[in-house]
Amino acid sequence: MDIHQSIEERVSSLPLLQYAFIRPGELVFSERVRYICEHECGRYGTSWACPPAVGSVEECKRRALGYDEAFVFATVSEVPAGASFEELLEKRKGHEEAAGKIKGILEELGMETLMLSTESCAICESCAYPGAPCRHPDRMFPCVESFGILATALAERCGIEFMYGDGVVTWFGLALFRKKQ
Ligand code: SF4
Repeated sequence: MDIHQSIEERVSSLPLLQYAFIRPGELVFSERVRYICEHECGRYGTSWACPPAVGSVEECKRRALGYDEAFVFATVSEVPAGASFEELLEKRKGHEEAAGKIKGILEELGMETLMLSTESCAICESCAYPGAPCRHPDRMFPCVESFGILATALAERCGIEFMYGDGVVTWFGLALFRKKQ
């Protein structure tokens, strides 16, 4: 059984809507996405999981291209109209759990991983950034956009559907992996 089959067999019990395997070289990194983080997201500069703490787009690209493969996945949640950011984060929990399980599966298969997920990290009530190191670096997943990758363009490239109408949010994750040295 090859690595893709092993991964597919193990993720079959997770609530993933769709997934795809790609090469990191297929990822598109954009300074424009970083500009949006900086100017339109309240999380910018407040967490180890967000820019500028994750490094420049060029550094993020270098890190990502150091992996051999990537597993792109999506889940969905129903979110009521007018939900606050906190309510949105609450609805995201299932996706973050799935991301943690995928990381565990890849590690069981002898891979080292870099997991990117959604929004920002909300593990701690108050992030240690910038005064102290991240308290849970193994469980903290920067969001896909924080690396300068536009998740919706990535989904389109992978043939992953993401428009399900009002009240449904599609969450994306990107697990980069390579054989442990
Ligand atoms: S795990 Fe805690 S300290 Fe680390 S990024 Fe998340 S909220 Fe911040």
